[in-house]
Amino acid sequence: MKATLDMMSFQEPRRKKCDCCDRTGLIRHKLLVAKAGLLVGDLEFCQDCARVMAEIMAAREVKEEVVEEWDFAGGGAGHGESVDPGR
Ligand SMILES: [Zn+2]
Repeated sequence: MKATLDMMSFQEPRRKKCDCCDRTGLIRHKLLVAKAGLLVGDLEFCQDCARVMAEIMAAREVKEEVVEEWDFAGGGAGHGESVDPGR
């Protein structure tokens, strides 16, 4: 099941609390979170947070395949092996 994120802009910005930074200001964007074509929920963002989210979403699109193949359980080759828990 593929999750999707869609950033939408309000026609009329509204003054309320941003779901990301908790500051009250002009909310200009809403992020719709869906899974398998069904709406899961939404988040409303101020201009600054929307810009950051857009960057994260753009990076996610590019790196998605790599992220999914990441093997966290295997650890990094050579990384962390020099740490001695007995010291
Ligand atoms: Zn914000």
